[in-house]
Formats: sequence, structure tokens, C-alpha cells
Amino acid sequence: MTNKLKYFIGNWKMFGDFNSFKIVNKINQYAKKHRSSNKSKIVLCVPNILIDFFNKKLQRKFISLGAQNCYHEEGHGPFTGAISAGMLKKMGSEYIILGHSENRAEGETYKIIKKKIISALNQKLNIILCIGEKYVDKKKGKTFSVIRKQINGSIEKKYNTNKIILAYEPVWSIGTNKIPNAKDLENVIKYIKKDFKKNFKTKKYPNVLYGGSVNKNNVKFLSSVSELDGFLIGGASQSSKKFIDIIKNYYK
Ligand code: PEP
Repeated sequence: MTNKLKYFIGNWKMFGDFNSFKIVNKINQYAKKHRSSNKSKIVLCVPNILIDFFNKKLQRKFISLGAQNCYHEEGHGPFTGAISAGMLKKMGSEYIILGHSENRAEGETYKIIKKKIISALNQKLNIILCIGEKYVDKKKGKTFSVIRKQINGSIEKKYNTNKIILAYEPVWSIGTNKIPNAKDLENVIKYIKKDFKKNFKTKKYPNVLYGGSVNKNNVKFLSSVSELDGFLIGGASQSSKKFIDIIKNYYK
């Protein structure tokens, strides 16, 4: 059920400026050095205003850059302050995070997420779709039903699901230093993979990442969850040392 390639995807959130290139550069150098031994794919999803700058500054890229959201309408139009998937693609974005719980909490609906997914797919961006239950859902034993609803509410059968990576991010674990226990996590990841394959009639199981308070100390424990295809890393991806230590400890 797992893919050999492990994803380490950073979500910088609202962080960074031009000086942060040093972080990107160190991570790129690490990726260059370890490209033959580690079967990993490193992606940094940074603020939109930095994508083009980092892309041009990196002379040889051993990592990919991504965005963290886009506007749901495509092309150009009277949408003040909005950035489309096409604009992000032109800036050098290869990946895009969609449906993050922080955006859902601000009112992002399934209808909007679907439109964002379609416009990202039209631009051939790789999508990291975030799903995950709130603590109250977990307490009520509703984790599986919430996840199912989030996946089916966001993806239609006709979409090119090969371009969609799922990131299981329990809302209660984001930025809290709390992570699920191994058995719960394994069950959720297996459920997502099986249900997705069956529902969308895909040949392969989807890639499923875990996200929420991943750090250098808990990554070894998380790596015991054999079904995981990698990690979506928030706070710790804002430091090259913390991010690289996560990858190093994963392979130790
Ligand atoms: C995130 O917000 O996507 C995330 C995983 O955050 P953190 O690692 O800081 O919990």
C-alpha cells in the first residue's frame, strides 16, 4: 500500500521574506547531497510572493516549490487581491496545498475547494489535499465519517486523482505538540487508502501523508506507521535545521 518515495513537504504558512532564501538553500543543498541515498521528495510550500524569487535564486533545484492556497476562479478577472492557480504555476509552483483546516475554519466550503482543485488540476499542479477531524469529532468516534465526507465533498470521480496527495492532519494536532497514537494513525491511513481506491476506482492506492506537530523527536515513532508516504510539516519547516533533522531521523 505504500509508495517507496517519501514526501517531506513544508508548509511555511505566513512566514518568510527574501532573507529566508538561506533556509531554502540549505535544504536544497541537503537534498542535492542525499539525492542518491534517500528516496525522498522535498517540497517547500512558501508564501506566494516568494515562489518566483526562490525559484530564480536556486541555480539547480533538488527540491520543488509549492503554494499554500489559490483563488477558486481561473485565469484573470475582477477579483481584487486574488491569485489564481495559473499565476502560481507561472511563478514556478509545482505543488499546492488545498483545503487546509486553517482555510476551512475561515469559511472555505466544499464548493470552493472543488473549484480550487479543478483550477489546480487544469494547471497540472500536484495537489496536497488536507483532511482531518476536530478533537470533538474524535471524541465522538466520528473520525472516519468526517474524513470520508471531506474527501467525497472535495473530489469528484472524474478528477485526475493521480495528481492528488492526501494529507491527514487531525486539527487537534496542528501546532499543539499532540500526535495520534500509532494504532489510531495506522487505522486512519489504511482506511483512507482503501476507501479512496474503492470509491474512485483507482489502480493504485493514493499517497497519504501525516501532518500535525511533526518534529525530529517524534518522526522515528511516526515512521513505524508503515502505511505513511511522508509528512506535511508546518512550524518545523521554517528552520532548515529542524526540517533537515526530521528527514535525517526518519532515515536513521
Ligand atoms: C500544518 O499546519 O500543515 C502543520 C502540519 O502544522 P504543524 O506542523 O506546525 O503542526
